[in-house]
Amino acid sequence: MGLYREEAVVLRTRDYAEADKLLTLYTRTRGKVQAIAKGVRKPKSRMRGGIQALSFSDFQLFEGRSLDTVTQCEVREAFMALRQDLKKLAYATYLAELLEGMVPEREGNERVFLLFLTVLHLVEHGDREELAARLFEVRLMGLLGYRPETGACVHCGKATYGRGAWFSARLGGVLCPQCRMVDSWAVPVTAGTLAVMEQLLRMDVKIFSRLQVAPQLAEELGELMRSYIQCRMERHIRSLDFIEQIRRV
Ligand SMILES: [Zn+2]
Repeated sequence: MGLYREEAVVLRTRDYAEADKLLTLYTRTRGKVQAIAKGVRKPKSRMRGGIQALSFSDFQLFEGRSLDTVTQCEVREAFMALRQDLKKLAYATYLAELLEGMVPEREGNERVFLLFLTVLHLVEHGDREELAARLFEVRLMGLLGYRPETGACVHCGKATYGRGAWFSARLGGVLCPQCRMVDSWAVPVTAGTLAVMEQLLRMDVKIFSRLQVAPQLAEELGELMRSYIQCRMERHIRSLDFIEQIRRV
């Protein structure tokens, strides 16, 4: 118990009592942490900027049994473009909700932290929110031990080279044509979509802006990842419904 400093991104905030907020933070070394920020809804609070959802801030916290208390907070990056664009905000909120739902409390994973910050930057500065979300999804799954198998059949181990391959969200990747019946929910998948998934897993993020993905592959990948995540996360991701709405407009 005691004071500690952490860099963190605010995943979510809720009003609490008269003037407080409850925060869900994703910290660099301690992972997901719940904290209370007292008095921050008063107009004069100096912490207001740093504790907004999706801010990247330096925190000083006092460790409690289940809830830590924010004692200082200085914003590092406010991600202003994210807040001013409905589409960017919807995707960034989705990333935060996915991360919150997939990780346990107080289990640090610096690579997950850095991935999250990197993809927030891609959404903030770029115009490919959807592909950035796919990048986050496949890599987050990989870092948490659920890397989707794109090459060898998850049942018999034979290389499929994408030919006639099926995809089983439940079993964690491709099935060859001979094994596809082991999962009646498996769906056919194109070699192109598997190649994009593999690229997103391996590529240097610096060249993300140059990655070309045909719309039908992006569509197929989106559906695969959605069911892949559903198989590994119990709760429903509310921000996905909102993304669906704005995609239709
Ligand atoms: Zn097989």
